[in-house]
Parts: sequence; structure tokens; C-alpha cells
Amino acid sequence: MSHIMFGGITHEPAVELARKLLGILPKELEKIFFADSGSVAVEVAMKMAIQYWQSKGETGKHKFATIRSGYHGDTWHAMSVCDPVTGMHGIFAGSLPVQYFIPQPSVRFAEEWREEAMEPLKNLLEEKGSEIAALILEPIVQGAGGMYFYSPTFLVRARELCRQHEVLLIFDEIATGFGRTGKLFAWEHAGVVPDIMCIGKALTGGYLTLSATVTTEAVATTICSGEAGCFMHGPTFMGNPLACAIASASVSLLLESGWQEKVIKIEKQLKEELAPAMLYNNVREVRVLGAIGVIEMKEPVDMATLQERFVAEGIWVRPFGKLVYLMPPFIIRKEQLSKLTGGLLKCIRE
Ligand SMILES: *Cc1c(COP(=O)(O)O)cnc(C)c1O
Repeated sequence: MSHIMFGGITHEPAVELARKLLGILPKELEKIFFADSGSVAVEVAMKMAIQYWQSKGETGKHKFATIRSGYHGDTWHAMSVCDPVTGMHGIFAGSLPVQYFIPQPSVRFAEEWREEAMEPLKNLLEEKGSEIAALILEPIVQGAGGMYFYSPTFLVRARELCRQHEVLLIFDEIATGFGRTGKLFAWEHAGVVPDIMCIGKALTGGYLTLSATVTTEAVATTICSGEAGCFMHGPTFMGNPLACAIASASVSLLLESGWQEKVIKIEKQLKEELAPAMLYNNVREVRVLGAIGVIEMKEPVDMATLQERFVAEGIWVRPFGKLVYLMPPFIIRKEQLSKLTGGLLKCIRE
């Protein structure tokens, strides 16, 4: 059937996809909500957090905490937890809900841990924890808000602090999921399981829009024990059968593809081939993690001019701000990736 009203009836593709996801997600996250896009998965996660506390009689917990330079989508509450500078806060100021922001984790991915990096979150939760429903962040890799990789220990400590202050922890794995950082999901770098997790993007391999918000038995049961009796969200395309069938096929293909070896090879090649850019005068930093290569420039790039040059080199790269980055598909061949890195370096050197 083209459409199945998922509130009250189920279908085989959704069941099959759910089974498959349960096999690859952390075992504590066993309740799945299928939504229609990444932004909606984030809205759903935030609504889950609010409804969870409401069901427990904690009506004062209606705010969210997050870290700067994040990106969580373009709908209303998702937008409210995007970075206030690179996001759309300026345009929608006065209308957006005001959330609590702490600085980006100061310890980088491979850097030695410094405990003072936890001070901002610790202070915020001590001061405002009673108002905060959840801390939402992209684990390990911040994507569209800054292409920044931070220490897994931050997540370990954040988990402890959230527990201590009765704040739920939400991981937005929409960009990091399905192998991009070298692990199937980024939480695996830290071994830290959130209360709620969002997945999307690579879930369907790009063929159709579908996302999922997953949570624990405890959160789901608490929500359903509340006044409403169930989680209050039911989009028309929730668990769309065609999208579920596509996701199921795509996840199987990925798992059978030897993705991990491919990502390791891409990482090694990106590291080698982007390294020369570190010597360019206009480059601040080169960083690579998994199948993500980032060149941070000293000044914002002139996107229109640069993109014309990229196209003339026969490559398509979409920089933003000071960031020129590559997130190639895992099936890219060695010589194709070399064409991409070579063309990129040539253009930014000019
Ligand atoms: C892309 C993205 C979203 C939004 O997903 P859409 O499907 O574009 O709505 C949310 N969070 C992260 C981390 C993303 O990368």
C-alpha cells in the first residue's frame, strides 16, 4: 500500500527495518519512532523529553541545553538549538524559543583530556538543571555548524553530569550515523549511550526521506503512563512503507559492503592527500576523521568564485564560511578521491 496510517496499524517493511536497526543500535535503545525527516526526528526527540518530565510531574523542565556550533535542522525547535551565530537565530530572533548554550567542547578528538573542559556544562546544570529537560548534541562530530571533532571523554562526563542533574541526554546522529566517523554510530567512540538518539540521512542512502528517534524502555513507558497515554506526534508519513523498505535495503547493503575497511582507506587517503594544504598561507587547519576531510581557511571563502573554479576542475565541493570539506560516498574509488583532493588543493592554493 502507498500509505498506511501508522498510528494503530503496522506493516512488514517497518517491522523488518525496526528489527534491523535494533541489531545495530545500542541495546538500551529499544523503542523506535519513525519520522519523516531529520529535523522532525529532532523535534520528536525534544517533545519526548518534555513529555517524559511532564509524565513524572516535573512541569518546570521545559528548556534545552546544547553546545555552540551545532546543527540540528531547520524546523522551529531544532533551529532553536542550532548555533546562534551560524544558524538562523538572527533572522528569527524574538520568535525562537531561547535555550541554554555552552561553548563548544574545548578538547579536540585526539587531544589529551583536560577536566576543565567540563566546567561550562557543570556550571549550567548546577544553576539551571531544574529547568532543563535535555542536553542535545551531535556526538564527536559537529557537522553543518562547524565541522569540528571533539573528545569522546566529553560525552562520558556529560552522561554523568546529566544523570546527576536529572537531565535527559539526546544524541543527534543524523550526520554521524552509518559509518561516517569510522564507527557505525559516533556514540561508539565513547561507549556512552544517550536516553534518546536521532538517525536520518544515510538511513535510506539518499533515496527517500526517513528518520527515526530511538529511546529507552524507561523513557517510552514513562511517556505512555502520563495523562496523554501515548507519545503525542503522528505525522502522515510516519513509518511510510516505501521509505521503510528502502531503508531496510540500504542498511543491509551497507552492512554487507565492508564499509569499515572502506572508511579506513578513505580516512588514510584523505589524511595523506589533504596534508599539503597545512603549509598554505591561507589555511588555518586540516582535520580528518573517518570519511570526513575538512580544510579550515583563515578567512571565509568567496563561495561563488571558488565553486566556479571547482567545477572547472571537474569536481563538486560545497564550502561554507571558512570551511571547505569533503564527505565522499564510501564507494568512491581511489583515483576518484585523488581527483577530488587534488582539484580541491589546486583551487584553494590559487
Ligand atoms: C541534516 C541534519 C539534520 C536535519 O535533517 P533534515 O533531514 O535535513 O531535516 C539534523 N541534524 C543533523 C546533525 C544533521 O546533519
